Amino acid sequence: MGAIVAIIGRPNVGKSTFFNRLIQRREAIVDATSGVTRDRHYGKSDWNGKEFSVIDTGGYVLGSDDIFEKEIDKQVELAIDEADAIIFMVDVETGVTGMDEDVAKLLRRVDKPVLLAVNKVDNAMREQDAVEFYNLGLGDYHTLSSINGSGTGDLLDALVQVLPDTEQEQDDLPRFAVVGRPNAGKSSFINALIGEERYIVTDVAGTTRDSIDTKYNRFGFEFNLVDTAGIRRKAKVREDLEFYSVMRSVRAIEHSDVCLLLFDATRGFDGQVENIFWLAARNNKGIVILVNKWDLVEDKETNTIKEYTQRIKKVIEPFVDVPILFISALTKQRIFKAIETAVQVYENRSRKVVTRKLNDVMLPLIEQYPPPANKGKHVKIKFCTQLPTPYPQFAFFCNLPQYVKDPYKRYLENKIREHFDFSGVPISVFMRKK
Ligand code: GDP
Ligand code: GDP
Repeated sequence: MGAIVAIIGRPNVGKSTFFNRLIQRREAIVDATSGVTRDRHYGKSDWNGKEFSVIDTGGYVLGSDDIFEKEIDKQVELAIDEADAIIFMVDVETGVTGMDEDVAKLLRRVDKPVLLAVNKVDNAMREQDAVEFYNLGLGDYHTLSSINGSGTGDLLDALVQVLPDTEQEQDDLPRFAVVGRPNAGKSSFINALIGEERYIVTDVAGTTRDSIDTKYNRFGFEFNLVDTAGIRRKAKVREDLEFYSVMRSVRAIEHSDVCLLLFDATRGFDGQVENIFWLAARNNKGIVILVNKWDLVEDKETNTIKEYTQRIKKVIEPFVDVPILFISALTKQRIFKAIETAVQVYENRSRKVVTRKLNDVMLPLIEQYPPPANKGKHVKIKFCTQLPTPYPQFAFFCNLPQYVKDPYKRYLENKIREHFDFSGVPISVFMRKK
């Protein structure tokens, strides 16, 4: 699990240009292997071997031309609450603006690392213009040009130095995160699930900030619920603020092993839900989809569940091996089943297939249907093994790994799924040279 870095600043200072530069390399890799849709405002990055998540807060501002000051305040507050470090970006072309000063005022009170990044310093002349940003009272600044890349390395050096060490997980219990859009019924679900406080075993203190885990013993299962306090604490922020739920989801997902993705059956599995789904999948977390408020769906003929399930699967292709349950937090229908399934997915995610068994199953299948010849080259897969990683990854050793394309990797993945239970768990398939 990596730390979370938020990029904040006025519109047009160059946040998304910088963001794209940060995640470009990795996103390109992800895209090539999974063909998954991209989420422009959230991504993974790493520098000098240190991995972190980046959020471009600018992406969530509506009508960025006449942005309300209050909206900015709120974003800054959220970024401060949820991120482990903040990059505050300003623009040397415009110099210090009133809005910059307002944000700086908020940031001066923060006890998390804040890096002041003066952008658009494309040449040495502008280096001198940057001096005025001392006036923001945030101390030293870093100059950079997001467009040509100069200065970005130094900024990232400084960033990884101040990033908190990623937290050690306290125990081996499954960590479940309940995620979804506002009003999906997350807090109702959690209340229905754990109900009385007596099921709380202990609050597990987070190491860097206020506790985000609570340990439960329920239905004979022991598990940590990630971020329950956060979901229940619906204080100062507007609940319909999508940015808020994205921020929370990112954080909860990062800390979890399995995500229980809730959505409102009457509203459907829309783009935002899909976004959260891919966030979890791309972070290699286990996933259980919970179609909540099923009590409100009038016409529940035998076909409805089947059709509904098909519709969801259409959206989450090609990762369709995911449990989908129809629940009601209100009537407590299938609440137990939801947790039971989450525990099962947790076990699937921890599953280690013995190498001999894996080869016994896979090699005959590969022989039956070998990788199609590519540009006249014939790929010969010799053996395979599951890597010793916290989530399932499989390496297939062959003479010409670069000639094996995604569809064939998907074939291998499907065969693995047919023979071993990885339901709800993203798995990666790599080709390695041997
Ligand atoms: P955001 O609204 O803060 O995300 O800003 P954008 O990344 O969309 O950038 C706003 C404008 O500034 C775009 O036209 C960018 O091409 C431009 N821009 C971004 N970074 C730089 C830079 O380092 N130098 C210059 N000269 N222009 C930049
Ligand atoms: P959250 O924002 O995701 O935590 O959603 P809440 O738990 O606050 O629920 C939002 C609204 O949906 C509240 O009015 C709940 O009473 C209602 N709600 C939640 N779950 C259900 C359910 O299963 N059935 C029905 N009918 N209403 C529900």
